[in-house]
Amino acid sequence: MRLNKYIAHAGLASRRKADELTINGNVKINGVTMREPGYDVKTGDVVEVNGVTIRSQEKSEYVLLNKPIGYITSVHDEQGRPVVMELVADVDARLFPVGRLDYNTSGMLILTNDGDLAHHLTHPRHQVPKTYRARVSGVLSKEKQDKLRRGVDIGGFVTSPAQVKVIKQTERSAIVEIQIREGKNRQVRKMFAAVGNKVQELERVAIGELYLGRLKEGHYRKLTKKEIEYLK
Ligand code: URA
Repeated sequence: MRLNKYIAHAGLASRRKADELTINGNVKINGVTMREPGYDVKTGDVVEVNGVTIRSQEKSEYVLLNKPIGYITSVHDEQGRPVVMELVADVDARLFPVGRLDYNTSGMLILTNDGDLAHHLTHPRHQVPKTYRARVSGVLSKEKQDKLRRGVDIGGFVTSPAQVKVIKQTERSAIVEIQIREGKNRQVRKMFAAVGNKVQELERVAIGELYLGRLKEGHYRKLTKKEIEYLK
């Protein structure tokens, strides 16, 4: 949506007045002054007028999706690969995924048009825990578990303390629940690789206090008011 229309929709000014505000340098997009009234406001953009964050009148929507593997966590893919948005049909809002799951990761993904909530859930400052269930190759010894708990080097970055619980161990593989408070690219896979175990399957089962529960893969539902409050 054009910036001047977006500001007008928020009930803040007429489009002409919005143009003036923009040209005069009173408008910021994602913290940077924007003087182009024709700028196309993207989903997730944070628009500020005179230092106050504004929203258009679009209703906030919150969807919980159980992402199957084989989907890109994006609204659109240049190469035409399947994207998670194709799994959500009847929600009348410009949703975007909060954070990212790899192509080969399944599980809990929140889709919303609420940029503030997305920021809260993904910004490292807020330390919102994300819980994953992983099947990894080999044995995850007590020493390795402790290393993961303390923090491992995943290539120039040492991870913060994590919670690690082995659910099942056989000679060949282990099922492990791991909770982290960061979201580096492929972090869980890299953490296990750092202790010599390869992730064979990865599923996100919780974000903060909210669990994926029994939602089937490829299915979605709207979050309840109470669940949205849990996340905020
Ligand atoms: N960590 C990963 O390695 N992959 C994901 O998709 C999410 C967390």
